[in-house]
Amino acid sequence: MARKVRRLTHKKRRSSRPVKTEAAGNIQYEVEKVIGTSNKGNTIYFEVKWKGFPSEENTQEPEFRLTCDDKILSYLVRRLDPIAYLDTIPESIEDIKSMKNNKNYILDVIEPLTSIGQMTVLNGSVKFVNVDSIPSRVRYLKHMITCEQSYILKSLFVPSEDDVRRDMKQYQEELDLLQKSFTDYPKITIRIPYQIQTVFYSPPPLSKLLFEPISEAIFEERESDKYHFPPNSDILGFNKVAPFIDRSHLEEISDKKIKPILEKDRLDFNSNPRFNVRMSLSQYPACGWNLTLNEEVDENTPLLVIAGIVRPVAVAQKCLEEEGEIVAFSSFIEIPNSGMCLDRREFFDFSKYVPHNCEPTCGVRLVNSGNDVPDLVVYSLVSIDSSCTYTVSLDYFQMFQSDVKDHFLKNPAPDGQIFSLYEKLTDFVHCQCSMPSCKEVLYVSTMQKQSQKLLKSSKKKSRLDSEEESEQKIFGGLNLVDSDRIYAIRNGEFVD
Ligand SMILES: [Zn+2]
Repeated sequence: MARKVRRLTHKKRRSSRPVKTEAAGNIQYEVEKVIGTSNKGNTIYFEVKWKGFPSEENTQEPEFRLTCDDKILSYLVRRLDPIAYLDTIPESIEDIKSMKNNKNYILDVIEPLTSIGQMTVLNGSVKFVNVDSIPSRVRYLKHMITCEQSYILKSLFVPSEDDVRRDMKQYQEELDLLQKSFTDYPKITIRIPYQIQTVFYSPPPLSKLLFEPISEAIFEERESDKYHFPPNSDILGFNKVAPFIDRSHLEEISDKKIKPILEKDRLDFNSNPRFNVRMSLSQYPACGWNLTLNEEVDENTPLLVIAGIVRPVAVAQKCLEEEGEIVAFSSFIEIPNSGMCLDRREFFDFSKYVPHNCEPTCGVRLVNSGNDVPDLVVYSLVSIDSSCTYTVSLDYFQMFQSDVKDHFLKNPAPDGQIFSLYEKLTDFVHCQCSMPSCKEVLYVSTMQKQSQKLLKSSKKKSRLDSEEESEQKIFGGLNLVDSDRIYAIRNGEFVD
């Protein structure tokens, strides 16, 4: 019996999610439920009851080894008192230093809140495996506060169905009015689940949404620019957050008092819209929001522009170093050959809710915007219809595939790649898209190697070391485009 338990503890575990077995020799185990948490050092452990095994064989599993988000979530929901949590957010997480020494606070508040937050990043289809879970979680919470994303953290408060329907109506009306100013954007409908789940995600605050890319100059002037940055409303809606926009602003919009501030040479797409599709933003349990099409589209159809603040790529690299992969990968998209990227940490558009998939239905093309920097446009790679449930998805991590291959060439993994990464305590990004050709390992962190290399080069500044150092790639955001070609769009179709 002892041998069996030992083998269980050291083998890779899988949840009941329909994921394929990665390699022979790896046994799949199913988590029945999560029944407790504890922490040792920086690692959070879950006490797991295994399906088909008696309680005596429960084991303590580091959280980063578990893939059963749904079961972790239902444990965390049971553990957290929604009233206490609403009352302690966001003030308590501002004092991160004292919080880190409070073990119960980490397990009762930090762990549940960051789990919920992270599950909404890239819509839960990818898991960021962080071995040093507590510091990376604290960093993530800090980001959510500084970028005013704490509305996501209020997801455990489940409103009544009547409240949700009332708020949804107001949200949709305001969104429609806002979109009257941006005709060059697909019409978006917000859909709530038929049954309100135990976790209810508030939709993104309307004042945080952009409908076209913004230069840093326009961003600096945001106090006076009500076109791109509509003022926030004080009215509390979903989960006691304020997702609405100032009523007087909406009146100004409907009176057409607010005119677009275009960058010097930016083409006026509002007079000649590029996108003629309708889409929905729908909520899925343990996944947050997902964007889907409302209707069938042919392949090569432009769907929507990716919006954010256009900034130099150095901003993305700095974010990766200071805030880590979770924030950097879910916030920055590179604009190739321009030295610029889109920063979507604080202001973003609905394309942020396009999930990752290893067999994506969509790709991204560069499209002439009139400015020096082209637009990034999501388009259909295949015809999208009911056979793929109108799914809009992208492969966000294609740029790391050669690095992942290199990693496993240098570090062979006979027992399976994921198993080897878990055993070697490596940070990586794990895909759970469940497609037949799922790549599973989307990114392997080289941070540890880099810091060792830097240490080495600071001790002994040899020519070889500095050459190696200069070869290190700068992260300029996720590279999503499939070619350097810059397209134009006319009458809803790509032209050269
Ligand atoms: Zn996948």
